[in-house]
Amino acid sequence: MTLEINTLSKAYINGAWVSAAGGALFDVSNPATEETLAQVTNCGTDEARSAIAAAKSAFPGWAALPASERAKFLRRIGDLMIDNLEALSEILTLENGKPLAEARGEIQYGASYFHWFSEESTRVYGDIVPPASAESRILIRHAPIGVCAVITPWNFPNAMIARKIAAALAAGCTLVGKPAEDTPLSALAICKLAEMAGLPKGVLNIVPTEHAAAIGGVFTSSRDVKKISFTGSTQIGRLLYEKSAPTLKRLSMELGGNAPFIVFEDADLEAAVKGLMLAKFRNAGQTCVCANRVFVHADIVERFTEALSRAVRGLIVGPGQDDTSMIGPLINKSALHKVSALVDRTVAAGGKIVEGGRQHDCGSLFYQPTLLTGVTTDMAISSEEIFGPVLPIISFDTEEEVIQAANSTEYGLAAYFYTQDLARTWRLAEALEYGMVGTNTGAISHASAPFGGVKQSGFGREGSKYGLDDYLDLKVQHIGLN
Ligand code: NAP
Repeated sequence: MTLEINTLSKAYINGAWVSAAGGALFDVSNPATEETLAQVTNCGTDEARSAIAAAKSAFPGWAALPASERAKFLRRIGDLMIDNLEALSEILTLENGKPLAEARGEIQYGASYFHWFSEESTRVYGDIVPPASAESRILIRHAPIGVCAVITPWNFPNAMIARKIAAALAAGCTLVGKPAEDTPLSALAICKLAEMAGLPKGVLNIVPTEHAAAIGGVFTSSRDVKKISFTGSTQIGRLLYEKSAPTLKRLSMELGGNAPFIVFEDADLEAAVKGLMLAKFRNAGQTCVCANRVFVHADIVERFTEALSRAVRGLIVGPGQDDTSMIGPLINKSALHKVSALVDRTVAAGGKIVEGGRQHDCGSLFYQPTLLTGVTTDMAISSEEIFGPVLPIISFDTEEEVIQAANSTEYGLAAYFYTQDLARTWRLAEALEYGMVGTNTGAISHASAPFGGVKQSGFGREGSKYGLDDYLDLKVQHIGLN
């Protein structure tokens, strides 16, 4: 079995590779060249229903397997991801555009969730609690929820779906997935690996489609789907939440962000520049935890901007397949227009371009790494998710002022700050209203740490020892002794 792109054109339902009824196809293109990369079967509601039916019928057998047996499948899939690192990275780069080095990092990150949850699956302990009377006993255990439907975005085509599949399967649930229309190939490649690993049919099903709303509607309205785990925009998260009400589903929502990145006057500036470059420019700025508003203390703003300017000039823009590329294209035309319009509005409102500021001549979806100064909190760029390689600097004077500004957003996913003051570290970590806080680091994602947000960034956690909770129900058993 190979992992070539032309083998990833069908849906994976009930352990078989199937074409959508009527043979409809949709194009997947390489954002670096805008050339068609593959034509993939365009699933409709019938395929979504068959995938749910397959997951439903596979559920009792999968849930009944000893956790140690389920763990073996997960470990095998994780190992196969590492064994096929180069092939998977190339597929990912071709459909998403990110540089190969980042794609390799993403595959390793995705595999780490299979490895992590293969271990966690064997640690789902129950409790025996003090009974109400001498003649009774109370046992509490965890039971898998059932069929889970997952919907994922294009910005991490492997890792976003990998961490949902790994957690759901570890808990004993079966799964139906809908990857993003722009990047279905990496999700289908995971199915190839699952097949190689001998995963029982129906446990994992993936339906690529252009009809997101229709497939989403089948997931939300089905009584057989017990839970939906969604990663994507807050707008679509709200819609799925509303549509899930009639069937009372369990939900996990990993939604948008507007991360503040705060550099205090006592920070190690070299480290802060390094952390910021990582937190801002990974995936050309298209991540939910990207630094979106960079607050720099007025005393150091000039020095910091100069150092940052040098670092931004050093970024090499180019197709992800070139090993030297550090910034790839944006995902599609509407992403490029959004970023470009946001920069223009910022300049019109008084912001100043220090670096970049327009489309890159590498191709029509490339945007120059951009550094903006003179940005204020009332500008659109301070409240909208930029999702592009644009870094706005906002100057501040006091700790109180910056905490207030950092928290004045509807989002609450990730926040970062750099300081060498221990007391301030505690104050900030407690005051920032975010699910994840990076102190003197721009890297905050690891399989062992709970990933997720608060406020309009959603709820539920992925990864860590808490990651299985979202896929388990509590069941209590009262036993009478006479
Ligand atoms: P999006 O438009 O919400 O799309 C995400 C997924 O939802 C895609 O698979 C999309 O399918 C699907 N979708 C769209 N409309 C739907 C509908 N009516 N019913 C059911 N599914 C529907 O988000 P995006 O623009 O692709 O991704 C970027 C967003 O994701 C950003 O806001 C980012 O912050 C967020 N994100 C969050 C996290 C996190 O962990 N918190 C991680 C990564 C990204 P199509 O692609 O076919 O439209």
